[in-house]
Amino acid sequence: MSNKPVIVVAIDGPAASGKSTVARQTAQALGWLYVDSGALYRGLTWKALRENVETTKPADVVALVPRLQWEFFDDARAIRFTIDGEDPGQQLRSELVREAVSDIAAVPEVRLFIVAELRKMTAFGSLVMEGRDIGSVVFPDTPFKFYLDANPVERARRRAAELAQVEGRGDVQQVLSSLTRRDQKDSGRKTAPLQIPLGARVIDSTQMPIADVVALILGELRQAGAAP
Ligand code: C5P
Repeated sequence: MSNKPVIVVAIDGPAASGKSTVARQTAQALGWLYVDSGALYRGLTWKALRENVETTKPADVVALVPRLQWEFFDDARAIRFTIDGEDPGQQLRSELVREAVSDIAAVPEVRLFIVAELRKMTAFGSLVMEGRDIGSVVFPDTPFKFYLDANPVERARRRAAELAQVEGRGDVQQVLSSLTRRDQKDSGRKTAPLQIPLGARVIDSTQMPIADVVALILGELRQAGAAP
């Protein structure tokens, strides 16, 4: 066992702010684990839909949580998981999951469970975790907190381009209204709403290339002596 301190980089921000790409590339540059916390909320949503659980009924969702068996593993330095032995894979990105996930993520008991699982991931070593509440709730003590934002139209353009690649279609107006709806639910919920964590460095990526954002984060880590 090495005694090297475990370092956590928290990257928060709204949907399609560029945080996934930035978090993945930052982790890759450091050889650290990349954790997409939204995937856990999506995973639970996927499972709830498969089990015909009414995703807008918190009590039904809460009843499902303790029945599930999650396993987490390091897949080429990114966290992957199975639920009851099944890997949800790309189904995490489906429209059905996307439209239901914010309702599931608003349930306090769901958040308690997922936050606890996310905290355990430091067992894998230093990591870069992206989400909505990483710097505010999951790892409030880490000195490395970033909040990525970009203007909504730019975010919708980016997400529509991604969808066009994956699903063969991506309409900016439609994506913009879906993003705005999800932003409102994520920012308006009572438990752990999307917010700029105390002490986070805010980065507006509207006009900033991803590589520059990654360089800025790596620069801060190096300056603090946390990265080579
Ligand atoms: O990041 P991603 O878009 O995959 O997240 C999906 C949803 O999961 C978000 O819209 C939000 O409702 C929820 N989420 C959250 N807290 C996090 C990460 C994601 O509530 N840390």
